[in-house]
Amino acid sequence: MQLPPFLPTLAYAQELDKQDTLRSFRQAYHLPLHEGKPAIYFCGNSLGLQPKSTAAALEEELTQWRDYAVEGWFHGKRPWLPYHQYLQPALAEVVGAKPEEVVVMNTLTVNLHLLMVSFYQPTRQRYKIIMEAGAFPSDQYAVASQVRFHGFDPQDAIVEVVPRPGEIVLHTEDIVKTIEEHADSTALILFGGVNYYTGQYFDLSAITQAAHRAGAYAGFDLAHAAGNVPLQLHDWDVDFAVWCSYKYLNSGPGGPSGVFIHERHGNDEKLPRFAGWWGQKEQERFLMQKQFSPIPGAAGWQISTAPIISLAPHRASLELFQKAGMTVLRRKSEQLTAYLARHLERLNQQAQRFRILTPDDTEKRGCQLSIYLQHDGKTLFDQLSTNGVICDWREDNLSHSGGGVIRVAPTPMYNTFEEVYRFTKLLEDFD
Ligand SMILES: *Cc1c(COP(=O)(O)O)cnc(C)c1O
Repeated sequence: MQLPPFLPTLAYAQELDKQDTLRSFRQAYHLPLHEGKPAIYFCGNSLGLQPKSTAAALEEELTQWRDYAVEGWFHGKRPWLPYHQYLQPALAEVVGAKPEEVVVMNTLTVNLHLLMVSFYQPTRQRYKIIMEAGAFPSDQYAVASQVRFHGFDPQDAIVEVVPRPGEIVLHTEDIVKTIEEHADSTALILFGGVNYYTGQYFDLSAITQAAHRAGAYAGFDLAHAAGNVPLQLHDWDVDFAVWCSYKYLNSGPGGPSGVFIHERHGNDEKLPRFAGWWGQKEQERFLMQKQFSPIPGAAGWQISTAPIISLAPHRASLELFQKAGMTVLRRKSEQLTAYLARHLERLNQQAQRFRILTPDDTEKRGCQLSIYLQHDGKTLFDQLSTNGVICDWREDNLSHSGGGVIRVAPTPMYNTFEEVYRFTKLLEDFD
């Protein structure tokens, strides 16, 4: 839709909702309640809402188990043995891949380790990993432990790209320059897709190209990108990626993780990998032979029995993504977040109350805006909570006057323009 000129009124927000072609999707989700009414849920970047279809998806597998027991692997509505295949086409659409380039298995940090087994093979000459400064802690721990596992020193082997003085987000040219500077000694570039703290959406294509020019692999943690921004992992020539399914992808707490492995690596038997019987070709898996002959593509990286009970909700949530379509979701998302940004700008004109850490440029962000408050941020956050807004608070350890960041993520799948309006009205009233 083409937005009419901005007006700071409720009627305007309601008009935008009326024009929203995705508005019926909100009904497909359970909204948490605050004092009997739906809360304003801006926390889909942390734990996405439960689709109403989740219960039926779980029920289906419980019934299958009840009625078929072990034969459920081969019989019933959706036999379990090829279960991972039921998720591949929809997930491939979300991340811009071919179906055989993706698979759902394990959880995120585990997969990060597993794919570093394949894509981080340091030598004396090439051993560095380039990351964004301020990456999600789990990724930092995982990477440092991998580096140590291979006998290197994280201080030397991990190169962080830091913002310019006084800035918060990174310039693509600085990332590329860092890669070029360490071109001879770098084995892997490992970046977030969207940084969890600033909300910056990195230029994955440019980073991948720079990595390849340097002779390194490019891998991405897309925890905050999958289901949030449109991705073209195959066309961008990304080597591998990992993400979780419980944030924007709405598959429930601790939901399973997706991985992408580019097709040029998917059948490369020279790449080291940690193997298990679930990566073995299905026809041969139960022959219990000694020879490991992996399923072609990402599915060959599976190790253990597929967790059907957690894959089922993910299958159900992906159906909603397939119905809505990432392109349409993104278009609404850009408008919804721009609408939020416009309000914040308006409030800031009255008094400089906060600073938006997230890039202003729509192409460099997803749906999340990170609002930095120098003073008493926690008080404001608590007031928002009391009034039925669910968002997220991160203390700024350097601020001594209660500063910190409120992260708000209005998702196009189930949030409305009116909710953004009501949120900003609360901000205004707490002034
Ligand atoms: C949420 C998130 C994680 C969490 O990893 P789990 O293994 O699922 O606990 C890791 N990395 C990033 C970048 C995240 O945003």
